[in-house]
Amino acid sequence: MGIFDDLIRVDENGNLRYIGWIEWKHISTGLTHCPVCLVLDKCWFNNNLKPKLPQHENCHCVANNVANPIPMIDAIAKCDIKKFTDYIFSDKYAWTGKRDLFEMLGFTINDSNYLKEEYENQAVKKYCNSEYKLGKLDMQGQRINIDIKFVRHGRNLVFTSGWMVRPKGEITNNTPLAD
Ligand SMILES: [Zn+2]
Ligand SMILES: [Zn+2]
Repeated sequence: MGIFDDLIRVDENGNLRYIGWIEWKHISTGLTHCPVCLVLDKCWFNNNLKPKLPQHENCHCVANNVANPIPMIDAIAKCDIKKFTDYIFSDKYAWTGKRDLFEMLGFTINDSNYLKEEYENQAVKKYCNSEYKLGKLDMQGQRINIDIKFVRHGRNLVFTSGWMVRPKGEITNNTPLAD
């Protein structure tokens, strides 16, 4: 038995997969229910990029090892098209200046579906690559920030997008462009 037995597992397709990820397991004791720990239940994180554990005094949550998620197979990113049609490109929120930034890149409301898919594709890959930053954690959940890159007219532009970590490898978009 070497140390690799603990770090590498053979998956159902015979591929070796490094186990650097954990699934948060909420363990409630007695009558107390902690809404923050509860919302983290079954969420996946890189072991080095997870919420503080124990989260607080008398937190009985544990981190169970899971295989590094694979984009589109174990993990998925979901971005509601309304984040673009009803927010970024809406008149109502034009005051934020975010529409101006997307329009400077040549995008209009007609590109909303392209943007939704581009965000989902880039975000799920970066999440699985552990290229995310932990943001605010509260009873809504653990927020993470992910950089979305665009190449327009030969220039690289990076937008920081905000996501919420959901159970079992899912992340959902909060904002395409964080403040
Ligand atoms: Zn708790
Ligand atoms: Zn806890």
